[in-house]
Amino acid sequence: MTFSEATAEPATSARLTVLSGPSGVGKGSVVERLRAHYPQVWLSVSATTRRPRPGEIDGVHYHFVDDAEFDRMVAAGEMLEWAEYAGNRYGTPRRPVLERLARGLPALLEIDLQGARQVRAAMPDTLLVFLAPPSWEELERRLVGRGTEDAQTIQRRLELARTELAAEPEFDVTIVNHSIEQATEELVRLIGSLARTPVKH
Ligand code: 5GP
Repeated sequence: MTFSEATAEPATSARLTVLSGPSGVGKGSVVERLRAHYPQVWLSVSATTRRPRPGEIDGVHYHFVDDAEFDRMVAAGEMLEWAEYAGNRYGTPRRPVLERLARGLPALLEIDLQGARQVRAAMPDTLLVFLAPPSWEELERRLVGRGTEDAQTIQRRLELARTELAAEPEFDVTIVNHSIEQATEELVRLIGSLARTPVKH
């Protein structure tokens, strides 16, 4: 089944899909590939207090906000979930996701493990997808090799990644990230087939 075949059908049971997994596993790269090759896949844009990395665009990759604005969004109940991760806060604005689902259309979040758990608690029909590295050594190599963070940040992320790897059994589906292309295609197939799969209650 191709993606276009899957989406040609009415989305009678649109669902929320959460892509999560350890830091450095390639969630960001999968999402980048989705943006480039599968613009039909609707992705939530998170709010974050982290500073933009080179090339990141406000409103596209994240909504870059300051602490006060993040506080305001949380206090106003505007976040579907939020978490602190490696010293910064990240959250999913609730309204765009709920509007999307209300229109019968699928939605995808790429968030950390703490966020994935919150979404599952709030919306139990959510499909949780775990992106796994081919091996721990490979994950370590990717985390250290990214070159965008200082040594302390890398160390914090390695510790987090060890904890996050242990969470795999909490997820509905695992995709092993052998390559960005293969992992992205598996994810797209999964989202596409969800349009046909009745939601369990
Ligand atoms: P990065 O700073 O590398 O873009 O993201 C760091 C971590 O934050 C990643 O694991 C990413 O999945 C997670 N993240 C991004 N947006 C959100 C969000 O809205 N909520 C939560 N809980 N985590 C997020």
